[in-house]
Amino acid sequence: MLEALTILITAAIVVQLAVFATTIYLHRTATHGALTLHPAAAWVFRFILWITTGITTREWVAVHRKHHAFTDEEGDPHSPKLEGFWSVQLGNVFHYLKALRNDPGIVTQYARDLKPDLFDRWLFDHGPLGLLLGITALCAVLGLWPGLAVAGIHAFLYVFVLSSSINGLCHSIGYKNFDNSATNIRLVAYLTGGEGLHNNHHGYQRSPKLSFKRSEFDPAWPIIKLLTALGLAQHRKTINDVRSTP
Ligand SMILES: [Zn+2]
Ligand SMILES: [Zn+2]
Repeated sequence: MLEALTILITAAIVVQLAVFATTIYLHRTATHGALTLHPAAAWVFRFILWITTGITTREWVAVHRKHHAFTDEEGDPHSPKLEGFWSVQLGNVFHYLKALRNDPGIVTQYARDLKPDLFDRWLFDHGPLGLLLGITALCAVLGLWPGLAVAGIHAFLYVFVLSSSINGLCHSIGYKNFDNSATNIRLVAYLTGGEGLHNNHHGYQRSPKLSFKRSEFDPAWPIIKLLTALGLAQHRKTINDVRSTP
């Protein structure tokens, strides 16, 4: 019983570490330049991403920028309107891999501003090595089977529930504040560091804060404000600086 609780709590922590590194570093910083991070803070997020997801920053950025360039039109790597809702909701990761495989020039075209540094070349570009390190660390701390269980729950939730809900659910159902094809779902936002406020994001891509109305909450925003107060981040204007709050 206690072991099951430890597994669930640890999995929740690992999932949220990956979620916050994804939204703050991969999405808001590397993709959209909504904020800039001190190299030390960026390194911590890059390390977390490496051991929890194995994602290569330039690839993720390229696929996501292409999504913004062709949102729900021919060329969008993962549009539920083109591919069907369940295809994206369940198979988001396969659409992501297909986008990279079918378009070998995608990184050069959409992420040429991101130059790999020494850490990328030696560590962060080697996703499977990062995942191996992460899983080994979990097993060393929790024991073999509990460690593998945490890794399995994390992988399932991050890949097949949370990330896919942004591209599937948040382009299908929910409410809109702005005139675009994405939607906001508050529950998804609570679980994804604010990413579920996806209609707001498509409305103002360079806003470092994804919430707009007073009733919306972006869990990553207090962390970005803390990093800014500590001198570890600088951010652009938020949606609310540009548009008055309804
Ligand atoms: Zn979108
Ligand atoms: Zn975006």
